[in-house]
Amino acid sequence: MNKSNISNEIIDQLKVIVGENNFIDDVKNMNAYLSDWRNHFSGISPLILKPTSTKIVSEILAICNKNSVQVVPQGGNTGLVGGSVPSASGDEVIISLEKMNTILDIDPVNYTMTVEAGCILSNIQDTALKKNRIFPLSLAAEGSCQIGGNLATNAGGTGVLHYGNAKELVLGLEVVLADGSIINSLKQLRKDNTGYDVKQLFMGSEGTLGIITKAVIKLFPVTENNVSSILALPNIESTVNALANLRVKTGDSITAFEYMDKNCIDLLMKQLKVNDIFNKKYNHYALVELSSSRKGDNLLALLEDAISNSIESGDIIDAIVASNESQSVQFWNFRESLPDLLKTNGDFVTFDISVPISKLKELIEKAEKICAQLPLNLKSYIFGHIGDGNLHYYLFNSEEEFSNEFFKIKDKIKSSLYDLTMQLDGSYSAEHGIGQAKKSELKKYCSQSEIELMQLIKKTLDPKNIMNPGKVL
Ligand SMILES: Cc1cc2nc3c(=O)[nH]c(=O)nc-3n(C[C@H](O)[C@H](O)[C@H](O)COP(=O)(O)OP(=O)(O)OC[C@H]3O[C@@H](n4cnc5c(N)ncnc54)[C@H](O)[C@@H]3O)c2cc1C
Repeated sequence: MNKSNISNEIIDQLKVIVGENNFIDDVKNMNAYLSDWRNHFSGISPLILKPTSTKIVSEILAICNKNSVQVVPQGGNTGLVGGSVPSASGDEVIISLEKMNTILDIDPVNYTMTVEAGCILSNIQDTALKKNRIFPLSLAAEGSCQIGGNLATNAGGTGVLHYGNAKELVLGLEVVLADGSIINSLKQLRKDNTGYDVKQLFMGSEGTLGIITKAVIKLFPVTENNVSSILALPNIESTVNALANLRVKTGDSITAFEYMDKNCIDLLMKQLKVNDIFNKKYNHYALVELSSSRKGDNLLALLEDAISNSIESGDIIDAIVASNESQSVQFWNFRESLPDLLKTNGDFVTFDISVPISKLKELIEKAEKICAQLPLNLKSYIFGHIGDGNLHYYLFNSEEEFSNEFFKIKDKIKSSLYDLTMQLDGSYSAEHGIGQAKKSELKKYCSQSEIELMQLIKKTLDPKNIMNPGKVL
């Protein structure tokens, strides 16, 4: 029975629009759509719609707008800030893009691919590879997240250092606005200065301005060589110095530089039941990858030479270079297992923060001091895309009997670490977005004039506030 304020009549109209087998109205089958990956946010909904075309998305939104029915766009539901999850009101319809998953066109000469928004990221990567091209957006959730969700969150991931964030990888977009009108800007152009770059409005808009239905994305030449290595480093300052030096010495061939601290490595070794990477334990580690699209490039020699140079200067203490593809896969498996392992490691607060790379040392040192002054003994796990100045900083309460105390001081920890990050000219949300999780930080740290401009944009595109209400603003 429908217990929401949305009338049965409208629910029935929406079901007819999507057609049989393209909706869920039975609560028993909705679980996967109602809470987020970490189970930090959950809600309810009377109806999940799975449109199969842009026209259908447009018809859904036209009806919803006319009747002031609120909608939550949903991709792979891997977002980490509660943006894809409905509220507890029961008055929001979920629009899942999962059935709009066709790769419409691949143009290897133009280095572009045109895709529907519900395409899973790893399927896009695989399709590009078959044509000797790559789509370089890469993140641990790539087997489930969708390109529409990647663009709506302006996802980062491990390739940003070389290829940029999602918004730098898109050339054209098709979007359905709140009133059902379709903005078709599926351009395949690298140069197009014809007025405002409207598509960029939707990058990172988290479903609050419209539903992305199709996109033209950029491809790159296939990687012919790559080599990866795990580095042991004496401290954070040396870590960023090593990166700066390796970039020069390798002719800027570094395509990833991922940091992991000692606690992360200890957790990985224990949970994945593998021996220590080195014979000794170190405090700081980085996974570095070099890639090249030139066939004859000897990246191994280039990397070994660059590492030797940094060992001489004292910025690197030790290094293991992957001797074959399977060792390289193992190194990446370490890094990519971390979010999952940490999720089940106990009660935590987590930060997705960034600062200019040159200020990372100050950030970590000052954060450690702040944590040392707290009444609880917290254990930190720090990893992330350090090449982009982006850290994922987890703080765990290691003693269960203090869980109430931990709960009470979580907000204080958050505000201290976010204040610190902002003092260092950083960001309190480097790549995951605002969603429900960081609305108060947006209010606190964003200038009034910027918030007013965002509100103006929102009001212009979605005057009835039906698009993902309660998220971002
Ligand atoms: C293990 C793991 C690792 C991760 N690693 C990274 C990482 O390295 N870098 C990173 O940036 N993120 C990372 N994330 C976060 C997440 O995967 C990304 O934010 C991803 O881009 C979300 O895509 P999705 O399809 O799952 O979107 P969802 O979670 O379904 O939605 C995210 C937001 O986008 C909106 N949305 C979804 N689809 C559309 C659409 N078609 N049109 C309009 N709005 C839409 C939703 O309303 C919501 O606000 C990780 C998550 C996990 C679980």
